[in-house]
Amino acid sequence: MLTVNAYAATSATEPLVPTTIERRDVGPHDVLIDIKFAGICHSDIHTARGDWGPASYPLVPGHEIAGIVSEIGSAVTKHAVGDRVGVGCMVNSCRECVNCLQGEEQFCVAGNTGTYGAMDRDGTVTQGGYSTHVVVTEDFVVRIPDALALDVAAPLLCAGITTYSPLNHWGAGPGKKVAIVGLGGLGHVAVKIAHAMGAEVTVLSQSLKKQEDGLRLGADHYYATNDPSTFDQLAGSFDLILNTVSAKSDLDAYLSLLAVGGAMVNVGAPAEPLSLNVFSLIFGRRSYAGSLIGGIRETQEMLDFCAEHELGAEIEVIPAEKINDAYERVLASDVRYRFVIDTATLG
Ligand SMILES: [Zn+2]
Ligand SMILES: [Zn+2]
Repeated sequence: MLTVNAYAATSATEPLVPTTIERRDVGPHDVLIDIKFAGICHSDIHTARGDWGPASYPLVPGHEIAGIVSEIGSAVTKHAVGDRVGVGCMVNSCRECVNCLQGEEQFCVAGNTGTYGAMDRDGTVTQGGYSTHVVVTEDFVVRIPDALALDVAAPLLCAGITTYSPLNHWGAGPGKKVAIVGLGGLGHVAVKIAHAMGAEVTVLSQSLKKQEDGLRLGADHYYATNDPSTFDQLAGSFDLILNTVSAKSDLDAYLSLLAVGGAMVNVGAPAEPLSLNVFSLIFGRRSYAGSLIGGIRETQEMLDFCAEHELGAEIEVIPAEKINDAYERVLASDVRYRFVIDTATLG
């Protein structure tokens, strides 16, 4: 066992505190990663505060991990000591179900193993990236190309793949009109990726407050959804709408913006059930769908794509002692656009 420094939530209501946790010994197929940066994802806050069901404490969040391999197991072939690597939202799966065999481990029939707060295949509870080191089986570790700095690459491991996968699946590219709803942690990366894919990109944000940023990040157009005329002007426009907002939204209003055959895809997850008028789908053969991160192969593809287009997240690097402040700022939408913890500050 390796005892390492970390930051953990000890209950749903207390601030996170510095602590130490145990990492397992490096097994034959494991790599030990010296974590350099860990992004703060909105999911970390929901999980730490028990919003998505009871968590097991102490809980070390963090599933946007970037670092350097410092040790490998005897049977490891995919990674070497010194490699720049990343770990995203999952660290294991059954590897033998139909979805795992197709490289869609996120949809593992037996359930993928989340990077933190999940029961791993060996019966231990996983702990995430707000720490100095992590041991992960080599198949769930991806390579970070040299063209990507580790700090701006970290958020790609969740925010990047969560948006790349549906943009890829629903064919964002030249000649396609894509709307990104919400310009936050997910949305800002989605704008960059959709633009790099060659799509015509529109941001639909509550107000025009971040318009300058949106256009700088690659959007061609920017509209405020608090202006009712937006929905009249853009009716029937889009081939794809990617909704990154987890607040409840008026689905019929958004579906009316789709062209014939268009799809609206949610990656933001509202806690409450939503309702829609099925006529919104029937008239225009429209689809309403969801998407969950992406498989390991696609995560590697996404990182290679981002490196090729020199595209990383817009970040604010913070020391570990600012994690609790950062949580409050994320909840207040006061971040442009992702906090990344410098794990050197964990001591
Ligand atoms: Zn996340
Ligand atoms: Zn499986």
